[in-house]
Amino acid sequence: MPNVDSVKVAVRVRPFSQREKDAGSRCVISMNSNSTSIYDPRNPGLVKTFTFDLAYWSHSGFLKDKNGMLVSAGSNSYAGQREVFRDLGEGVLENAWQGYNATLLAYGQTGSGKSYSMIGYGANRGIVPVVCEELFKAIQNQEKNKQYQITFSMLEIYNEQVIDLLSKTRKPGGLKIREDQQQGFYVDGLKLVPCDNYAQIERLMEQGNKMRTTATTTMNATSSRSHMVITIQFKQIFLDEAVTKQSVINLVDLAGSERQKSSGSEKDRLKEGTRVNLSLTTLGNVISALAEGATGKKVLHIPYRDSVLTKLLQSALGGNSRTIMIAAVSPADICYEETLSTLRYAERTKKIRNKAVVNASPTEKLTRELKAENTKLLSRLAGLRNPGTLAADETQELRYLLAEKEQGIQSVQVTWESRLQAAREEWEQQYAAIAQERQMMETFPYLLNINEDPQLSWVLKHFIQDGSSEVGQSTSNAIILRGLGILDKHATFTNADGKVTLTPHDKCKAIVNGAPITGKTKLQHLDRVILGSNSAFLYVGPPAERTDEDLSRYDYDFFQSELAAAEGFSVDELGAAGGKDSRADPGVLAVFHDYIKLMPLVAEVNQMSEELKKDLKFELKVKNLASTDSRGYDLQKEIMVKVTHATTNQVWVWSKAKFINRKFLMEELYQRFQEGEDTHVNQDSDPFWDPVEVVHLGSAHVWLQSLAYCVQLEEQTELLNSEGLEEAVVLINLSPCSRDGRILGEDDTVIDPLELLGRRVDFQIHIAECLGVKWLQDAVGRGIQIGYRVYDLPRFLYTKPAWKNVNPKIEETVHFSALNASYEFLNYLQENALIVDLWGLQEGCTAMDCSLDGLLLTPEGTIIVDNPKALTANDVGLDPANHVSELYRKLLQMEEETELLREINRALREDNLLLKDKLKKWDTSHHESLCLSQVSISCFC
Ligand code: ADP
Ligand code: MG
Repeated sequence: MPNVDSVKVAVRVRPFSQREKDAGSRCVISMNSNSTSIYDPRNPGLVKTFTFDLAYWSHSGFLKDKNGMLVSAGSNSYAGQREVFRDLGEGVLENAWQGYNATLLAYGQTGSGKSYSMIGYGANRGIVPVVCEELFKAIQNQEKNKQYQITFSMLEIYNEQVIDLLSKTRKPGGLKIREDQQQGFYVDGLKLVPCDNYAQIERLMEQGNKMRTTATTTMNATSSRSHMVITIQFKQIFLDEAVTKQSVINLVDLAGSERQKSSGSEKDRLKEGTRVNLSLTTLGNVISALAEGATGKKVLHIPYRDSVLTKLLQSALGGNSRTIMIAAVSPADICYEETLSTLRYAERTKKIRNKAVVNASPTEKLTRELKAENTKLLSRLAGLRNPGTLAADETQELRYLLAEKEQGIQSVQVTWESRLQAAREEWEQQYAAIAQERQMMETFPYLLNINEDPQLSWVLKHFIQDGSSEVGQSTSNAIILRGLGILDKHATFTNADGKVTLTPHDKCKAIVNGAPITGKTKLQHLDRVILGSNSAFLYVGPPAERTDEDLSRYDYDFFQSELAAAEGFSVDELGAAGGKDSRADPGVLAVFHDYIKLMPLVAEVNQMSEELKKDLKFELKVKNLASTDSRGYDLQKEIMVKVTHATTNQVWVWSKAKFINRKFLMEELYQRFQEGEDTHVNQDSDPFWDPVEVVHLGSAHVWLQSLAYCVQLEEQTELLNSEGLEEAVVLINLSPCSRDGRILGEDDTVIDPLELLGRRVDFQIHIAECLGVKWLQDAVGRGIQIGYRVYDLPRFLYTKPAWKNVNPKIEETVHFSALNASYEFLNYLQENALIVDLWGLQEGCTAMDCSLDGLLLTPEGTIIVDNPKALTANDVGLDPANHVSELYRKLLQMEEETELLREINRALREDNLLLKDKLKKWDTSHHESLCLSQVSISCFC
């Protein structure tokens, strides 16, 4: 009977990483029983709550026990690996014993804790190893009339290729997925290793992980984009009853769920690498379709067949499997968006319903058939005792048949035993190699690999034996290292009595503790070594030099932060520190993280560009968005990548999202190059190519306040690039003027800008010249244009292109008119700056449109600003052309009337002044005559 049940979903939140701690991150997750709440760090009042089957608080309240295991610090508030296994792992085991298929998926962004829950680290073993160990433990305690068969397989899906992690030889193009009527989809040729104890599985996992690490570096791949699938096939053969129960357990550590958001308005010309993450996208589609189906909607098609992963998981999702998903989340404020998206994904997943059945495997059927047939045969044989019931030849045939069938049963047994034996032998060889490695670690200094993915760190060790050891890609080296930017003969290590030095060969890249080295350099215990573009190693000195120091602090982040610091880049540098509570702004921290994350990718891309002879140089830049904010607030910073062509000096600016997308496409191309295939691509699909474009060079802020007081401003100001460095100086004048363009004088100054309210305000922007344009110094064939946008204008205005001259004369004046100055416009003038952008033209690019198309003009040809939106034609539903001219006519009429009134007013004021003057004169003379008369009076008295 099928058992309908929903996918069980658990959320787990991890502790802060060191990086998050250093950055003073805040925790945005809280949990209460099985509900999980997340608050928006930018709007803390906004809380969203989700309810799942289980919620694991693994963020705080723990301590490390003497074995290094994280356990609850008393209050039971912390969920450790043991608790997670108890709820989820035991369920998987129970299902397996009953003969159900079981699937466990870990979903979440890179670094959220998927591998920690699935595989684990050191003493904190995850679900997979504990499930395997418990399975063997339970087998030991079972009755003896049962036989067990366990096989283990481990594969990786990268770029839709299936790589067998237990096979020494890598098949180009990966293994094929095939479909079978009975077993559904399966991987053809995948190594299924029979195991009869846990130690064997432990070694296999270690071996698989090594393979994964080597494959990642050799293929220049990113492990966070790959899925790892471990499959345990568990068969129980009940000898007495001749029944077989079979269960397939899939344990899936999915690729990082993060999406590259395309920032700003810029979209990449090339679509995302077609096969990159296809599996994860399809998984999302399958889950959505299944979730919709479960809520009663009619779903016609579930796209299982669209990707490798969904083919393999077909029965786990919406089929014959009991399925569990762990949604791993980061607690940090800067991961808010990703965490929220993970919780939403999990919410959809929990709606899926599966129909799990106890598996009647082909073996079981075979046994059952054999048993039935034997019974029949036996009863017929019994009949033989009655002579005459059967003929002699018939008896013979029956005996033969019986023997054959019994052989069938035995051969199943024999095959299994011999496979097990072969695996045991292989395992012993492996074991000897591992034992030897342990011994070497105690004798020699060595390089320990450090990977971006902590799961793949400390996996490979390269021993530096006495004398000198050559290192590089060539197999003739003592230390064979594959990786981007590593040459055949890359460097030499010498070990003289435990004193180790590193000497890179000519032009070979080597960095020690953040600084590039060229000559012989002495290494000290725990030095950080980077060879080629991004192969990182921790140097572990000879045993005598070693200390008790915990090596875990030298993780990938440590390496990258050290490199960034050597380049003069840090959080403090970005202005994150300081402030009231000395907490860094999450936005600034995000930029710092981006920088650290992109740094190695840029190094890799430069290397690929060099090898593929693309002649392009890539550099990381931090763009200060304050320069594009008209109020000058230090809003945000953004990472971008500047691309320069080494020979033509052409420049492109890529957003982070575009760069990451291109990098994956470049990797695909590079892989083809490495495999000796033709790497010629059309310009249109070349990830290194883009049409030549206009480049934003810098901006200046010119405050508009003077216009609000009708005062002229003559400004000479620096155009600063996104790093705050001077790109050029621009001479610009803002001049209040009359409607016919006469510049107003001092007499026209207003004391209060509100005096201009409702009046016609005219002004001119005059761009005189630019001085010392760096862009024009750097290369020939370049030009510039200057652009700006005033208040509510629908578009930017650009000056005509100026070519070649480093101090180009521009001399362009534009006249603007606010016909009926609004309060908002006057306010804008007082509080905002005009952002003046400097644009760089290069050979072959299309210049910015310097016409006045799309702008509303007065009959005199001046540009109308402050065009009241409430009265726009569209809003009132009138024919735009007529409506605008009608409005304009009315405005002019009103203005004329006002002007008339003003004239009258002015005349009155003049009269008034005249009268006052007369009065004053009269006053004085009257006073004099009054005095005189008084004197006379007194005389008369
Ligand atoms: P993912 O596989 O999702 O990329 P990992 O499982 O490798 O992420 O976890 C990233 C880091 O966080 C690792 O250093 C790991 O040790 C740590 N971590 C993850 N989950 C936990 C947890 N529950 N408790 C302690 N540390 C954790
Ligand atoms: Mg992982």
